[in-house]
Amino acid sequence: MPRAELKIRAESIRENVRSMCKFSGKPMIAVVKADAYGVGAVHVVSVLEKLKEVSAFAVACVEEGVELRRAGVKKKILVLGGVLKGEEKAFVEYGLTPVVSHREHLRALEGINIPIQVKYDTGMGRLGFLEEAVEDERVEGILTHLSSPLDYKYSQLQIEAFRRIAERHGRLKYVHVESSAGIVYRIPFTTHIRVGLALYGEKPMQDYPVSLKKALELRAQLISVKTLPANFGVSYSRTYVTQKPTMVGVVAFGYADGLMKSLSNKASLYYKGKAVRIIGNITMDMTMVDLTGTDAKVGDWVEIVGESQSFTDLAKLAGTIPYELMTNLSRRIHRQVREDAHNL
Ligand SMILES: *Cc1c(COP(=O)(O)O)cnc(C)c1O
Repeated sequence: MPRAELKIRAESIRENVRSMCKFSGKPMIAVVKADAYGVGAVHVVSVLEKLKEVSAFAVACVEEGVELRRAGVKKKILVLGGVLKGEEKAFVEYGLTPVVSHREHLRALEGINIPIQVKYDTGMGRLGFLEEAVEDERVEGILTHLSSPLDYKYSQLQIEAFRRIAERHGRLKYVHVESSAGIVYRIPFTTHIRVGLALYGEKPMQDYPVSLKKALELRAQLISVKTLPANFGVSYSRTYVTQKPTMVGVVAFGYADGLMKSLSNKASLYYKGKAVRIIGNITMDMTMVDLTGTDAKVGDWVEIVGESQSFTDLAKLAGTIPYELMTNLSRRIHRQVREDAHNL
């Protein structure tokens, strides 16, 4: 039995895909870069590959694309990070679609006849051509990325700039902009949405217009429960000292598993639905919680993320974003796709 596990609710992911596609009236390119945001790309694509709403996947680099092919993915795989000299053979061999965002990418693809998509930089200041630059028979699609999807005015400027580029390109199979937060713009001239985070039920903003189901439950076992006397320091550097006799549980989950040390003495975990505060410094493999008033015992599970709190909630407390928390989830967490939908 693994000490820490991440349950991935298949039905919740499917419902989230359907809700977002229905809201936007378009199929989806599912973004599963960085091992599907730490959730486990092979697990996530096993759910998404069968959905008719999902037309393609997007990953960051060629290695991630190869991993998906080896796992049996048949759908289109976009490689967002472009293509460097020496990588072009893998694109052909594994049937990957490069997203070209620089002259050098085109140079690497000279004489290679595979479909390509072209990225434009309409205000992200990262990847993409600044003006319409690519006239090439291989172009099957174009895209751009919003830098500040919560900023309505700025996003409208980016969308308008991209609309002008799309007009000049003419009819294409793939024209895409909208990320999880971006789908609120319901852009009329795009063909697909391009979504990552919201697949898991993490809302990119408070008044999100699509209702999402929580798809992830992260929990770990208690490996010790004992009562410490008053005035006893807990964990490294004694940043917490008991005021009274305190029932202290040791959860088999630490910062090496992805629970940031900055959450020490700040966040709570949940035992049978009750908040139990993290006390003392989070350590590499273990985190202490105050279980006073519960009947907790060794081997019981403590919820880190699930019904009671989301990655977004925890990220706020840690001063970061859910993307960073999730992509820090360690390999030793046991990942599992669940078909039963109870609890979540
Ligand atoms: C990561 C990424 C996305 C997905 O963004 P979410 O906010 O997770 O939906 C979309 N497009 C590009 C270019 C990305 O890098």
